[in-house]
Amino acid sequence: MGTKITAKYSGSCKTCGETWNVGQGMYYQKLPKAMCTDLECFTEQGGTVQTSFQSSFKTSTTPFMKEKTKFVMPDVEVPDTLTVAAEVVVAAIKKAHDLAHLMYPDLETETQLFGTIRSKLADQILYVWSKKGQ
Ligand SMILES: [Zn+2]
Repeated sequence: MGTKITAKYSGSCKTCGETWNVGQGMYYQKLPKAMCTDLECFTEQGGTVQTSFQSSFKTSTTPFMKEKTKFVMPDVEVPDTLTVAAEVVVAAIKKAHDLAHLMYPDLETETQLFGTIRSKLADQILYVWSKKGQ
């Protein structure tokens, strides 16, 4: 199995004559020996590269990929004061939602961007609210 490497030496392909310089990306395989900057030529020389890495790389760059994460809920009692605090947070989010919708009427409320704006506004509302409470 060959890999895509960064050329440490400049050289040329014995099969197609393609040349490469130091630092250039190329395909290299030790056994059976194959090397070229051109994937097709490399494959013709008997070289193989794992393409799943590249495809997995592609999927990981797609935004908002659904990733499963294990979460263990701590087994603790929630005090009433915290429940009250949570209600304040929920109220702040609701207020932030209305505000965001007022300011960005064309923006779909289901989008990630809307959620980001709403979240930021909720933070700011809570911040101002906590300052007033002091
Ligand atoms: Zn070649």
